[in-house]
Amino acid sequence: MPIGSPVDAAGSRGPLDDAQEQLRHAVDVLGYDEGVHRLLASPRREVTVSIPLRRDDGSVEVLTGHRVQHNFSRGPAKGGLRYSPKVDLDEVRALAMWMTWKCALMDLPYGGAKGGVTIDPSKYSAAELERVTRRYTSEILPMIGPTRDIPAPDIGTDEHTMAWMMDTYSVASGHTVLGTVTGKPVSLGGSLGRASATSRGVVLTALAALRHLGLEAGGSTAAVQGFGKVGRGAARFLAEAGVLVIAASDEQGAIWNPDGIDLQALEAHVEQTGSVVHFGAATGIDNELLLTLEVDLLVPAAVEGVIHAGNAGSVRARVVVEGANGPTTTSADRILAEIGTLVVPDILANAGGVVVSYFEWVQANQAYWWHEAEVESKLAERMDTAWCQVLAEADRLRLPLRQAATCLAVRRVAEAHRQRGLYP
Ligand code: NAD
Repeated sequence: MPIGSPVDAAGSRGPLDDAQEQLRHAVDVLGYDEGVHRLLASPRREVTVSIPLRRDDGSVEVLTGHRVQHNFSRGPAKGGLRYSPKVDLDEVRALAMWMTWKCALMDLPYGGAKGGVTIDPSKYSAAELERVTRRYTSEILPMIGPTRDIPAPDIGTDEHTMAWMMDTYSVASGHTVLGTVTGKPVSLGGSLGRASATSRGVVLTALAALRHLGLEAGGSTAAVQGFGKVGRGAARFLAEAGVLVIAASDEQGAIWNPDGIDLQALEAHVEQTGSVVHFGAATGIDNELLLTLEVDLLVPAAVEGVIHAGNAGSVRARVVVEGANGPTTTSADRILAEIGTLVVPDILANAGGVVVSYFEWVQANQAYWWHEAEVESKLAERMDTAWCQVLAEADRLRLPLRQAATCLAVRRVAEAHRQRGLYP
């Protein structure tokens, strides 16, 4: 059964409300004044563009796209580009703000941004998607570039989208600019290890969380919501670490096998059919049910707001590891804290992607490429450092991990503001 973004019974109106409430809380804990709060709550730049598209049949459609740069006090803005029919400006604003905190938490020299086009990419040909991407890129051209704002893939976009963006920017510049975007094909200046980096980071933090609770990976169980770029890799790496993945889902439905899912066979099935549903070696279950299975790890790796006030009380996982951005609403967060569920927040759990994007940008700017083993060991080191810092902050402030991580990040961004001062 397809499910959309549920409305939170406790009043959250969407991801922007959640992002603003998380910031408000951090500002209160850190004791900052209203001026600093307003500065951090407001995007520095945002643009909405029309994207006229000539379809393959000759007809013309006009799509809408956005790019929001929430903050660039610590360096150029950084954040993904989403193609989804549910994209709207408030969602992009929330995602851009979370990127600012994520980059600061991982101590990357970046601010935060996000882009989105309101489109269902499954309904357009590759040639149409190329025209959409090139027109969107040229509309936002003055805002982006290796020293301004560096896009990357997100829901509905991939390495081809990034190659088209890079080419469009380069043609306008008169020379090839590899550092314009990250998540490019490896043959075009992409980094080894980038495609799997978000999933690897999710699993590194999931395993750290299990150790923190005194649990072994071998014998632990997991359910993964979303079987796209992040969820698919997370399931595979969890299984490689010895975790039994017993459920997986996508927009079409969910599957469950208490003895463990054969992930290689499932990936082949998804390649063939486009969905996890009707996978022979598992039982089809309701998508919502996956979220409430009795497992050690629940990995939401799809969209925002799926764990909300209406279902958080039924979550039976020991740990929720947020592969997606914003999958847990703030009211659900409170419920999960009450019932003792450990939540590893998105800005930590899924930060592996932006960390290796940073490595890709460094390599592209230097035109010097690293071995995959080097990328992976540097990623593991960054994830481990951030995990330990968040744990220590949570202990010191007696706060859940999300609030501790947000406080750490907000403090770093506010400190950059303070050092730079206000101009004029
Ligand atoms: P994707 O488009 O590759 O995959 C999304 C998956 O989620 C698909 O399998 C889709 O069918 C499924 N899905 C959508 N709605 C669903 C629902 N309601 N229930 C169950 N499944 C649903 O996207 P992705 O790149 O894997 O991104 C997934 C999440 O991870 C997003 O929140 C994204 O912002 C976040 N993220 C991605 C990256 C990255 O490097 N790609 C990095 C950090 C965070």
